[in-house]
Amino acid sequence: MSDPSIAPRIRFVLVGTQHPGNMGAAARAMKTMGLARLVLVAPEKPLDEDAFRRSAGAEDVLGDAPVVATLADAVADCTLVLGCTARARRVQLEELLPTVAAARVAAKAGEGAEVAIVFGRERTGLTNEELQLCHAAVHIPSDPAFSSLNLAAAVQVLAYEVRMRLLGDAATPVVEPGLREQPASHEQMESFFGQLGETLDEIEFHKGRAPESAMRKLRRLFLRSEPSEQEVRLLRGILADAQRMARLAHGDKK
Ligand code: SAH
Repeated sequence: MSDPSIAPRIRFVLVGTQHPGNMGAAARAMKTMGLARLVLVAPEKPLDEDAFRRSAGAEDVLGDAPVVATLADAVADCTLVLGCTARARRVQLEELLPTVAAARVAAKAGEGAEVAIVFGRERTGLTNEELQLCHAAVHIPSDPAFSSLNLAAAVQVLAYEVRMRLLGDAATPVVEPGLREQPASHEQMESFFGQLGETLDEIEFHKGRAPESAMRKLRRLFLRSEPSEQEVRLLRGILADAQRMARLAHGDKK
């Protein structure tokens, strides 16, 4: 993580949660993404065995979460408050995609400010009054016909986006998966194309057509796929077998 002091300035606030298990699952979702500041606003029921079971190793995040009476109490010292809502364009608030929200959260926290991402009740979400306390709304662009994610799933999406932001360049893989092998050199590619040309002749692929046109297309195809040395060896093995078969066939004819 670029700056370890940023994550502790980002709090996830759950308002009026109805199922204790969801608070546990939310704590787990946060901890997997390196986020530990959970605040609970007037949960309907206190934390119970189910909540701690669902936290599955994030008992510290759950156990450390302060319980406060109102959303205003939970965000009193915050300079940026974003409210997550399952229904798009419900309020006269700017509506952000999770990626954009995470960028703003990370930028603000990076400046030293306290920031909050707020989640509503399972059944009814956030009230209009609660959304009025927010600087902007965040909507995960779900299917409008079935737009409501489970509370902890929504927490996971936001926590992931925040983590991706905080990781920054470190989140970009240096080596693309599947390209760990040494790419074939220009010389290896040219030898392969040479053998491919010979093979096409030997199997009488062109049948009177100009060989250049097919070769141009094949070169483009193989160069675009940037094969590794091993992949070129495999292709050349196949060509060698095709050549051997062609020679056998010619021999048979004679
Ligand atoms: N029936 C409620 C859904 C609540 S789901 C409603 O219509 O508002 C519980 C919480 O999860 C929501 O208050 C919100 O904070 C979050 N959430 C669920 N789906 C979401 C989505 N598509 N985008 C953003 N937040 C979402």
